[in-house]
Amino acid sequence: MVVVRREGLYCVPGGFYIDPWRPVERAVITHGHGDHARVGHGHYLAAEPGIGILRQRLGDISVQGLAYGETTEHNGVRISLHPAGHVLGSSQVRLECGGEVWVASGDYKVEGDATCAPFEPVRCHTFITESTFGLPIYRWEPQQQTFDDINAWWRRNAEQGRASLMLCYAFGKAQRILSGLDPSIGPIVCHGAVEPLNRVYRTAGVPLPPTRMVSEVDKADLKRAIVIAPPSAGGSPWARRFGDFSDAFASGWMLLRGARRRRGVDRGFVLSDHADWPGLMSAIRATGAERVVVTHGSIPVMVRWLCQNGYDAKGFDTEYGDDEAEDAAAAGAAAEGVAPPEPDPVAQRWAVREDAEAARAAGTADRQRQEPEQEEPEEDRDA
Ligand SMILES: [Zn+2]
Ligand SMILES: [Zn+2]
Repeated sequence: MVVVRREGLYCVPGGFYIDPWRPVERAVITHGHGDHARVGHGHYLAAEPGIGILRQRLGDISVQGLAYGETTEHNGVRISLHPAGHVLGSSQVRLECGGEVWVASGDYKVEGDATCAPFEPVRCHTFITESTFGLPIYRWEPQQQTFDDINAWWRRNAEQGRASLMLCYAFGKAQRILSGLDPSIGPIVCHGAVEPLNRVYRTAGVPLPPTRMVSEVDKADLKRAIVIAPPSAGGSPWARRFGDFSDAFASGWMLLRGARRRRGVDRGFVLSDHADWPGLMSAIRATGAERVVVTHGSIPVMVRWLCQNGYDAKGFDTEYGDDEAEDAAAAGAAAEGVAPPEPDPVAQRWAVREDAEAARAAGTADRQRQEPEQEEPEEDRDA
């Protein structure tokens, strides 16, 4: 029912695409991260709670909102959207045609998240799953542990008269961290790339603690503040105004010592909006699917493991990147006029894709498509 075309994942009987990476007439969008929601499609269909994000990021688009669980039909295919637990408005796309059910899950996580609806297992025959952290080494601590660690780090810095600069992706991760902060420690300051998204979350009814722009906080108070900013703000002129500060980065990649080292920050907090290995496995099992299609991440490892465990599994080669890395270059730099940071391996992977895309667009490199590398795990199995 679903195949990969040059433009993206394509529902054959329905005649529409899911998260296409090239402009198409009809697109079902799983969520607002840049590698899934692109400009230029004729018509968008997305979960209602995510419409505000899409408009914020894509501008004036023709978009139809669907409540979670609500059904619409297109060319004989019944379409419904179900929470993916990834970010506000993220959804899995359920497709039903002639008794056959497919679910395309976009990006997802199974752990709870105060800023979006929880992942809902949907029964299907074929499940399309991401594999960003699809290696057995990826296992997350319960998020409360991470929030406690972040608050303890912030409190210690505040006591020592130092600002805490928390670098993370502006859409999703930033708001999830905000939801876990203890506002009694000090002021919460948000970068210009983060605050507009906070507004969308609040409008959608997601409770976030009070936040301020840096210009609204006086210098003395900044020394007790936590500052939430996109990765591109790290080491930028914008960050220098905080004087002596401690910086940290929050990402699933922070599990890897090599990634922490390359980031060059004081602290790495392991927090991801993607499922870890046990999460991926439990999500797949819960669908009851016999066939699994693996996309973006550790495709060969997951496919092999699933086949060994009785699934009919294969990979789809897609253009989805690491949504976290993409935000770094785009949102932050645009909002505050700062230069993007030195690319880290994850960002580089994205850059390779962008380059490949540009080359393809110019008609020069159709056969040089680059595979994503599963870069860090090999050297960091002790992480
Ligand atoms: Zn995403
Ligand atoms: Zn993604």
